[in-house]
Parts: sequence; structure tokens; C-alpha cells
Amino acid sequence: KKINQVYELDKTLGKGKFGSVVLCRSKSTGEEFACKTLKKGEEIVHREVEIMQHLSGHPGVVTLKAVYEDAESFYLVMELCSEGRLLDQMAREGLYSEQKAAHIIKEVMLAVRYCHEMGVVHRDIKPENILLTTSGQMKLADFGLAVRILDGQRLTGIVGSPAYVAPEVLVGNYSEKVDIWSAGVLLHALLVGVLPFHGDSLDTVFEAIKKDKLDFVGGAWESVSQPARDLLSKMLTRNISTRLTADGVLRHPWISFYTEPSL
Ligand code: ADP
Ligand code: MG
Ligand code: MG
Repeated sequence: KKINQVYELDKTLGKGKFGSVVLCRSKSTGEEFACKTLKKGEEIVHREVEIMQHLSGHPGVVTLKAVYEDAESFYLVMELCSEGRLLDQMAREGLYSEQKAAHIIKEVMLAVRYCHEMGVVHRDIKPENILLTTSGQMKLADFGLAVRILDGQRLTGIVGSPAYVAPEVLVGNYSEKVDIWSAGVLLHALLVGVLPFHGDSLDTVFEAIKKDKLDFVGGAWESVSQPARDLLSKMLTRNISTRLTADGVLRHPWISFYTEPSL
């Protein structure tokens, strides 16, 4: 069947590099979904579909409901996150309380831990790719840069979003711990409202990622607790063996202090 026999396509929800995402509604049940169109022709499209199918069992990951195709495109029918992107919520909220920040990091890390357990590295963790549902659940989306790895396998492809990219990605020899670094960049932005590594050009951003030290200096830091700083420095460390795993982040005292216990 063709997608427009089954769903009514509605307004645009978002636009990305490779396609657009529109609201769609089942003609039989009226239920709403999000439909991502991906132009055919690259191996990468198959990988996004395959990885989403592989990850379909976690409340923190956007679920793929169905896939349609025609000559030009694939259509990924996903569960709808109608409250939009964490990025837009951050723009409205400004700074987050430590309690709210801990809640967000915990939800993201539960999803990341699941991905890593399933052998998937997301490689593009950032607030554009974290979506919100009406019930307030946070969902990891956009597996367009994700890859599956075997235990201990190293990755070499230089991909990601500049401000969020881990230093070892720039060297081209890395593993799933890159997702922890990117989530650390997010935590920094939640706590003090700015990104930790920035610059006027790509090169200066990358230089900062390779060299800049977290100094915790500046107005907004004064009200950030020691445990929050401790977690941040254990996510944004360039030493990969001491950088926390997703499980390590979930077990950190700052997370347990501010959030309900969970498995
Ligand atoms: P790209 O790979 O092009 O970045 P994404 O998968 O990140 O594509 O989707 C682009 C945008 O579309 C997202 O940032 C978001 O605004 C919107 N979007 C994607 N998936 C959903 C969804 N399941 N529910 C609601 N909006 C979505
Ligand atoms: Mg995206
Ligand atoms: Mg993508």
C-alpha cells in the first residue's frame, strides 16, 4: 500500500538535513504519528530504519510504527512527540534548576544505556534530537548517524554536531563513550545556559574541544552544587577510561539525590 492510502499527511513538524518530518493521521483510527521522509539512494537510509527497528522496546526511544516506500523515498511512521524538541524548551526556560536538569539527564541516560546495551552508538545526542511527549516523557530521536558496534569495536567515522562532538571523534578512534560526552555538553548547557566549547569557526570550536579546561568560573556557576560539577567533569573528561558509562551516570549521587529511584 501507498502511505497516503493509509495516512493523511498534515503540517510539517520539523526539517532536517536529509528530509522533513510531517504530522500524519491514520485514516482508519484517527491516531496521530510523525512521518519522516528519507530520499532513497544511500546505504545510510537503510541503517536508520534497521537501527530503529532494532531499538523498538524502550520508553525513552522514539518507536518506529511502520515503514512505507515508493520509487524515491522511504517513509518512517514514528510515534508522535507532540511537545517538540528539548532545544525549544531550553530556549523558553533559560537555566534549569538542578532538579529539572537531573531529571532530563536521567531520562536521556536511561535511553542511552538501552542503546549501548543493544550495541548502538547514537553519535548525535543534542537537544534537537531529544523530543517531548504530552505526558512529559523524553524520547531520543534521529538515529540517522547511529551505528551498531560489536563489543570492544572501535569507530573511525568523523560525524556528529560540532559543539557536541567528543575529542576522540576528531581523532577518529572512538567507542560508545562519545554519547556520554555529548550528554555532558547538554548538562553544561542546562546548568549554566551556555555551551562549554565554542568559537568563531569550526576550527576554533574543535581546538576548544581538544584543549579547553572546565573552569567553573562565571556568574552562573556560583549556584551550581559541587555534586553537579563533579558529574559534569566525569562526563566531559578526555580520559575515556575514567569517563563514566551511562550506568555510571545513572548511579552518580547527584542523579540519585534529585530523582526517584529506578532500575
Ligand atoms: P534529521 O536527521 O534531518 O535531523 P530528525 O529525525 O532529527 O531529522 O527530525 C527533524 C525534526 O523533526 C526534529 O528535530 C523534530 O523537530 C521533528 N521530529 C522528528 N521526529 C519527530 C517525532 N517523532 N515527533 C515529533 N516531531 C518529530
Ligand atoms: Mg536531527
Ligand atoms: Mg538525522
